[in-house]
Amino acid sequence: MENKLYIYNSLSRKKELFEPLAAPHVGMYVCGPTVYGDAHLGHARPAITFDIVFRYLKHLGYKVRYVRNVTDVGHLEHDADEGEDKIAKKARLEDLEPMEVAHYYTVRYHYSMDKLNVLRPSIEPNASGHIIEQIAMIQKILDNGYAYLSNGSVYFDIEKYDKDYHYGILSGRNVEELLNNTRELAGQSEKRNGADFALWKKADARHIMRWPSPWSDGFPGWHAECSAMGCKYLGEQFDIHGGGMDLLFPHHESEIAQSMAANGKMPVRYWMHNNMITINGQKMGKSLGNAMSLEDFFAGNHKLLERPYSPMTIRFFILQAQYRSTLDFSNEALQAAEKGYKRLMEASESVKTLVPDDTAEDLEIQKITDLCYDAMNDDFNTPVVIANLFEAVRIVNSVNDAHSKINNRDLESLKKLFDVFVFEILGLVNTEKSDDNNLVDGLMQTIIDIRKEARSKKDWATSDLIRDKLAEFNVVLKDGKEGTTWSVK
Ligand code: ZN
Repeated sequence: MENKLYIYNSLSRKKELFEPLAAPHVGMYVCGPTVYGDAHLGHARPAITFDIVFRYLKHLGYKVRYVRNVTDVGHLEHDADEGEDKIAKKARLEDLEPMEVAHYYTVRYHYSMDKLNVLRPSIEPNASGHIIEQIAMIQKILDNGYAYLSNGSVYFDIEKYDKDYHYGILSGRNVEELLNNTRELAGQSEKRNGADFALWKKADARHIMRWPSPWSDGFPGWHAECSAMGCKYLGEQFDIHGGGMDLLFPHHESEIAQSMAANGKMPVRYWMHNNMITINGQKMGKSLGNAMSLEDFFAGNHKLLERPYSPMTIRFFILQAQYRSTLDFSNEALQAAEKGYKRLMEASESVKTLVPDDTAEDLEIQKITDLCYDAMNDDFNTPVVIANLFEAVRIVNSVNDAHSKINNRDLESLKKLFDVFVFEILGLVNTEKSDDNNLVDGLMQTIIDIRKEARSKKDWATSDLIRDKLAEFNVVLKDGKEGTTWSVK
């Protein structure tokens, strides 16, 4: 751990040396998905960003406890305190139990993340499984005088809190303006100030997701779960909290306020935020007709997609930008990423077959490795890592084409560079040429050869049997001029 890792902290707005509270242990919390729909591109970026943080910290030798929550209650339609619960609404429309909706989309989310080779977190707690912890935290905030009860709901008192602490410390929002802008709205609502947010909401008669509490039958506000679960699994103070930039305000700002109001301590040392993804320069959104699920990308099922893009192409594409920069998806950019990914994978195969020549002079492989570490230590600068890896690709190809030679020591360093940076840290997988794919190709060719042999002997029974059996696995054979090909329906 002699590496000096610098992380951009959204709280101080500068890069800071990473010093965990209790090394070698690191606690990291990342806001996870609200499970009422398929995972889309917007989910892929934070998942991959914090997967890189998780992988790199582990590579440096830290013992990381990575908590990523699943929001299955309390996320209301208008992202504030009003409207129907998003999961409950989906359940009502599809005549399902809300937990069926949450479970279904959690499984779908895992499926997409597995394809992107995103490692599973250490703990994945559900909001609905931590109602008791949320109630206990809300009670503490009430006892400390930073919340008030109104018609069975509990609201956080921003004005009161701001007198003792500072609401706006993370987002830089001016609390005076915030309170003034929302003051006039307060008359129509049960809040003292429109900016106050719900800690607990009393459920109306049609609200199906509800739990008993000291105040009413109801449900927790959206921000409550992350403060309560972060504290439960990582302690009152922990190292890293991550999420998309869109969560910085009000979600993360309110998390800080809740934790401070309950425990009197700053909950998080380093706040990290990934930037957003745009599509052809436009914001992503259902109303804009450009919201694409990850499944759409993998299958090429969307009018904006010229063709399918593999999960590794998407992963590589996301890593080509530093996580704090915006990232714009377009077919051209994806096709360029696909080419780059393939070149990198080809070189990672070629490097295994290079033959060392000890008459070769030393190359600067160590320097490339050092530059890769420098880039990771500079706030996880993956595009610079990739640029340096392409320098290694150039060397591999040059030796492979017999334009230059490499000695044994350099060759071993080069192999290690690919293993550590391409596969372990960037988490890429060579899906172009996996052992499984090779095996399936070989087995299918054998079956096609046997069928051809049968047909040449006019053994139609065997030929039909093969076709029918393959059809059971959705495998379709197609006979053409150049022989028989196969595909999966
Ligand atoms: Zn959260």
